[in-house]
This record gives sequence, C-alpha cells and structure tokens, in this order.
Amino acid sequence: MNAPTVKPAVRTTCPYCGVGCGVIARPDGFGGAEVQGDGEHPANFGRLCSKGSALGETLSLDGRLLYPAIRDVQGACVRTTWETALDRVAQGFRDTIARHGPDSVAFYVSGQLLTEDYYVANKLMKGFIGSANIETNSRLCMASSVAGHKRAFGADTVPGCYDDLDCADLLILTGSNAAWCHPVLYQRMVKNRTERGAKIVVIDPRRTATAEDADLVLTLTPGTDTVLFAGLLSRLAASGPLDRGYITEHTEGYSEALARARRIAPDVETVAAQCGLASHDVETFYAWFAATEKTVTLYSQGVNQSAQGTDKVNAIINCHLATGRIGRPGMGPFSLTGQPNAMGGREVGGLANQLAAHMGFEDVARDRVQRFWKSPVIAAREGLKAVELFDQVATGRIKALWVMATNPVVSLPRADAVGAALSKLDLLVVSDVVERTDTIAAGAHVLLPAAAWGEKDGTVTNSERRISRQRAFMAPPGDAKPDWWIVGEVAKRMGYADAFNFQSAAEIFDEHARLSAFENDGARDFDLGGLTGLSPSAYSDLAPVQWPVRTGTKTGVTRLFTAGGYFTGNGRARFVAVEEPALAVRCSPQFPLLLNTGRVRDQWHTMTRTGKSPRLGAHIEEPFVELAPADARAFGLTDGGLARVTSIHGNATLRVRINDGQQPGSVFAPIHWTGQTSSNARIGALVQPATDPYSGQPELKATPVAVSPVTFGYEGFVVSRRALDAVASAYWVRVSIGGGTGYRVACDTHPERLAVSFAGPIAPGAETVEFSDLAHGVYRSASLVDGRLETCCFLARDRQSLPDWSWIKDLLAADALDVPTRRMLLAGEAPDGATETGPVVCACFGVGERELRGLIEKGDAATVDEVGARCRAGTNCGSCRPEIKRMIASVASRLPEPV
Ligand code: SF4
Repeated sequence: MNAPTVKPAVRTTCPYCGVGCGVIARPDGFGGAEVQGDGEHPANFGRLCSKGSALGETLSLDGRLLYPAIRDVQGACVRTTWETALDRVAQGFRDTIARHGPDSVAFYVSGQLLTEDYYVANKLMKGFIGSANIETNSRLCMASSVAGHKRAFGADTVPGCYDDLDCADLLILTGSNAAWCHPVLYQRMVKNRTERGAKIVVIDPRRTATAEDADLVLTLTPGTDTVLFAGLLSRLAASGPLDRGYITEHTEGYSEALARARRIAPDVETVAAQCGLASHDVETFYAWFAATEKTVTLYSQGVNQSAQGTDKVNAIINCHLATGRIGRPGMGPFSLTGQPNAMGGREVGGLANQLAAHMGFEDVARDRVQRFWKSPVIAAREGLKAVELFDQVATGRIKALWVMATNPVVSLPRADAVGAALSKLDLLVVSDVVERTDTIAAGAHVLLPAAAWGEKDGTVTNSERRISRQRAFMAPPGDAKPDWWIVGEVAKRMGYADAFNFQSAAEIFDEHARLSAFENDGARDFDLGGLTGLSPSAYSDLAPVQWPVRTGTKTGVTRLFTAGGYFTGNGRARFVAVEEPALAVRCSPQFPLLLNTGRVRDQWHTMTRTGKSPRLGAHIEEPFVELAPADARAFGLTDGGLARVTSIHGNATLRVRINDGQQPGSVFAPIHWTGQTSSNARIGALVQPATDPYSGQPELKATPVAVSPVTFGYEGFVVSRRALDAVASAYWVRVSIGGGTGYRVACDTHPERLAVSFAGPIAPGAETVEFSDLAHGVYRSASLVDGRLETCCFLARDRQSLPDWSWIKDLLAADALDVPTRRMLLAGEAPDGATETGPVVCACFGVGERELRGLIEKGDAATVDEVGARCRAGTNCGSCRPEIKRMIASVASRLPEPV
C-alpha cells in the first residue's frame, strides 16, 4: 500500500447541533480523520460533546450514495451519469411546470445544508420557477421561534450571544434537554453555576439529564408553558420589577398583553393548579426571576414543537421586554436551534413563508429581490409549510418533489401517510449522502449523490447568529457533488444558465451577502454588507463572525436591542397578547397516554452518521418508550420488555424503560430509528399532524397513544462481521459494533430457523458450532472462518438469561478463538479477562454502567469528579456527567443511612 498523503489540519464546524462548535480535522490519508475541538472557536473554545468527538468514526463510505441513479421500469435503481440524471430532473420539473404550473412542484430541503446550498435552491424556486414551495425541515425544529421573533421584534433576530450564558446569574431552560441536545452550551452553563454560583431552573414535563444540575426543576403539565410565563408577567406587573422606562420607550402592546396574561394566570395558585406544580415552586421561580436582573431564558424543541409554540415563545419574550432584560450582557430570551444550519436556512429564505435574506412577500420586498436576481418571475405568495406540503403531495397537487438531505418518511407527522403520498408522485428526486433511506425506498425516481461533511465547503450559522466556515478536508468519493452544484446544474438545464453560473461556494456567499445588503438602510436585521467582495482566500479564511456585519464594518454585532431599535417599522418591540392555551389533542380511553418525542444523547437525526460509531451506538442501543412506574404497572409493562405503542396513525415496537422522571400520563420515545435501522420504530409514523397556527410547526410532543406489552417466543442478539438481512426476525434493531454489525432480535420462529436465516449463505470454509437446549429455551450458535468469529447468535426464551453482549462483541475483533474461548462462548460465559460493561455511559472512554455502578456502590467514588479520577468517565466532553450524577444519587438513595 502506498504511504498516505496526509493533508494538513483543517478548521471546520461540527455538522450536528445548532451550537456550531469549531472542529479541527486532521485527515489520516486513509479516508478518515482525527477530530478535536477548536480552541479558538468562540462557540466551544475547544470542547466537543460525545457526538462531535466521534466525528472521525463516521467518515467511512459504508452505505454512501456514490453515483447518480435512475429507477428503471422494474423498480431497480440503476447507476447513470450526471448528465443523464440532471437532464432527467430538469426535464421532469420543466414538463410538470409547463403542464400544471409552478405551484405543482416543490423542494423539501434541510437544516443540514450549507447556506450556499440553500441559497441556490431558494433562488431557483422563488425567483426562476416562480413558486415559494421550497420548505425546510427546520419547520419541524425552529419555526415557532422564527414566528415569535417576528411578532415581537419585527424580524427573526436572536438578540443575545453565548457569552450571556457565562455571565448570567439565572439560567432558565424551558423545553430543552440541553445536557443531551446542546451539550457544549450546557457545560458552559454548568461551569457558570459551579464557578460563579449562577442558578439553573429547568422547566420540562420530563425530568431529563438537564435537571441533574438544576437548582429548581419544574415538571409542569405538558403544554402549560404559556400559563407559567403569563403568570410570571402578571406577577412582575403586580410586584415588580418592571422596567417602565424600557416599556415606554421601546415597546408597544404592554397593556393588552398584561390583560391577557392576567386572564390566563391571575395568581400563583391558578398557575400551580394549571401547570400541575407546587405553589411554592412557582413562587420560588417567580421570585428568582424578579430578583435576578441577569437572567437568560433558553428554549428549544419543547417550546417550538407545539401547536401553541409561537405563543409560548412570545410569553417568554414578554417577560424579558417587561423587565428590559434584553440585549445586555447576561440577559435575554435565547432560542437554541436544533440543526447545524437552521439559522442559515432562515437567512436565505429556506422556509416557505420567507422570501430571501429575512425579507417577506410584501410587494416592495418581492420587487427588490426580483431586481437583484434579475429573475423572470418572483413567487407571489408564501409557499406550503411542511405538513401542508406533504398533504398536497397526497392530494396530487404537488406532482414533482425534490428532497434534499432529509428524510420526511421518518420525521414528518403521519410518516406512513407521507411515504404513501411520495409513492404517487410523477417525479421524486432525492439528493442525499446515503444510498438507502426510507424516503428513497418510498419510490424515488432519481438519486443524486451529495458531498458529505468533510467534503464540501461553505458556511453555517449557529444559534448566536455566528457564521462559521465548514471546510472540505477530503475529496468527495465516487461522483458525489456539493448540493449547490447539483441544484445549479439543474437550473442551467431549465434555461437559467446566466443566473446559476456559480463556480464556487465563495461566489454564492458573495451574492448572498450582496442581497442581504441590497437597499438595506439598516431597516433589515440580516445584513452581510461588510462581507461582500471577499477574495477567494478571504472567504477561505473567514473567521467565525456574528451577523449583522454592516457595510463598512468587518466585525459583527454581539447583541441587539440594547437600546431598542427593533425591526418593526416604528422601532418598538411588540408585546403579544398570547392565547389561552388549549390542547390541540386530547387523550381518550382508547389512547390514554400522551406521546412526547425527542432525541437521545449520542445520536443525531436518523443516525446516518452517528449510527456508524460503535461507541455512540453503545449508549442507547435500542429504540425505547419511557414510562412512569405507575403507567407501566397499569398497562402491564416491565422494564426491559417490549411494548407496542399505537396511535390513530401508526404503531411502533419499542423497548420499555421505566423512569420515575417521566410524568404519569405521558410517555417519551426518541426519533432516531428508521426502517433501515429497526423493524418498527419510526416514531413519526405515530405522530398526529396538528400545527401551530402562526408558525405551521407540527406538534411533535403530544400524540394520544396506547401502550401494550409485546412478547415473543425468543429474544436475543446476533453479531456479525457482515451486515445481515434481518427481516426474518419479527423485531430487530441494527447496532454498529466494532468489527461488524450487531442486531437485537426477537421472534416467534424456531430459534434454529432464525439463526440460519440470519446467517445467510455460510462463508466458504466456515465452521459452525451450536448449543441448543430448547427444553430450557436456550439456543447459541457461532460460525467461524479460520478460527475467527464470523457470526454469532444467542437466543433465549427468558431474556434475563441472555448474557451482556459486550464481551461477545469484543470477540469479533479478536484473532482466532482458542478452544477454551469457544467453549465459554457456547456456554454463554465471559472468558477470563473479558468485561461485561453494560450500556456505555461515557462514550469518550468507553466506560460502562456496570463499572460505574461498581465504583459507586463500593464507595470508591462519591462524586462525579471522584468517578472521573478513578476511571476517566466524564473527564473529556462531559456529556455523561449528568448520568453519572444521577447514578450516584440513585445509589445513595438505596444505601442505608450511616449509623
Ligand atoms: Fe457538535 Fe456537540 Fe458541539 Fe453540538 S454540542 S455542535 S453536536 S460538538
């Protein structure tokens, strides 16, 4: 093998959450890279969470879509050339528009795209096709924050910055499991608490990992956030402090908003009753807010993903406006964005109800953008928001759809219906980095291979308005191309060559920046005038910068609205009289529980990247439903068993986790598993489609469901060097493991039959060994090639008798197994020296739950830091510290009191 050509380290940005951490990637010359946090990036100052730290493990080409493909008449995807694929897409869109008009086509894009990709797609749809049917999956993530910002500030402006989290004295996290979903920012907040004594309040229906470091936890009734913050406004008005000067000088609508708040939440007792909280906890929260000038209220999907999400956002903003706590160090409302470039998408107009560069569809804005683009048409009105868009696919009004870098058959509400609707399209184009997704499986006609993280260049914007460069450090494999190139080539073939003749991401960024500054006299928030005309090398070297960067300046603006200056026309912020909260959906005897959905610590979206990392997969291996102990008892579920979760729209089969942090009456399930990684765990299939009336954001936190136990004759696992076909198993979950693939399985089939069907064609020269004691419900088999473990299957009638599979996974990486090890394997006993770790808690150092529990129970470590000193867990990225803290507390609660 030739010596690798090792490229120099490259500064880039993490592709996962909206924290936007800086990453230094060092390519290893073999197609991989080492990554570490960028100590100079102001989002993270060198820290990365477990997901970011494992980026280097996600770069393999397994499962990559490498070449364009077109589905043939037999339904097979057949490799083709870019010329043919692009011609087909352009022709398909042109013909559809000619026959049915511009609103018969749509793009469904993604917060994973870079700003430059987004810009080109938005320009094509709104300025050249002449429809606003370009919608981003950020609708599922952030749209209520956007709508709330626009109502209050006149523009989608995040007022503050991350530094505020370091200098606030009170940090309120509402609807945000930041410990798992924005871990690096959460660690900044915990540091502030530890070093400066800041208080943390966590408001969430679930007691999540974020609650572990909180000074006050308010586990409110789902959907009652508006009541809590309306009560806070009432309370501030009654007993202060109000900033009457700020209210008078810089706002309007205070009296109406207060009157409405008083009607909704006249006093603490009413709030406590409606929110299901103790009055003294509500009182404490209000007293802390009142007494603490430097307060930041952070909110995320628990607020946004709601049929009243926009009102929740405005109820929070109202309290900050009333106290003038906005735009100054350590204070303000703060929306934590979910995706790496949800903000960039909002900047270019990726949401169907935005035109471009934070401009809407007013005549003056349409005229301005059309003149700038020199475009033949301009979209006349807002396009279809995500749920409506797929409804219109189902009705046949949308006939051609291009899905870029997202997977609506997994993530949209009523995901099964979305899949069925896609299969009716005349043309479904999917550009993606992976070759198998549930959306592709729904019948994509054309597949376009997109360049992935590490292979493409551009910019992303994080939650604090900071634009950072994502830089390529590897060549795209196969025929993969950047998304902006793909869209531009289609645009050229549709007849718009002059407007889409971009040669680089830098050229696109320049046009994007110029549009933001075009006829912008300061009345528009989004302005990159100071970043226009960058040379290729200046763009290449662009340091992270917060917008706006107005013409004549090179630095951004850290905080906005310090002295008013809102983008509402008269410069005043608007208080919003929020509506009385009403549940969009109700439970019933048939569906008695409310399903809440969300993320887990070590996975990202549909696991196409994080799912490749064995250590990330070892934290939570299976899709699960979490219930309160009382509900588990009531519905006959046992911890570790399986449950069927059913709504009116679909069902899923999930592992049961009983957790007393879960409120009775509601259950939680994560969103990450797909039809590619599990037999039946696409949670979107269950979710009902109610949306917020202002933002169009779907309610992903409240679907009425029923739960019931599911039992199979046998449960177990299979580990294999090769990926296997798991469909023979009634229940299966695919897990990435070192040296191969693991499957958690359950079936009613005869175990030998399942083992054989799993093993597939036996590798030439394989030797199979087997232990079958069906009288006692135990079956184990292994096949070995040249003495090395190839495939291993363990099944048992009683799942409690299955061994921890950590040591069996390790055997896949081992050399030829000696006879004693083979005997131990078939006996189901760990060989000498092998360790049973249990689920991995610390992904950085691979420390499992069993080791941690052992240390804590033996009294060898009584604090998180002592645990770290013993076994290093929690000493790198810190993402696992809340779980270790919870383990310490749970062990302590079971220990007898010292005499
Ligand atoms: Fe990436 Fe983690 Fe930073 Fe989010 S917090 S940007 S996932 S490293």
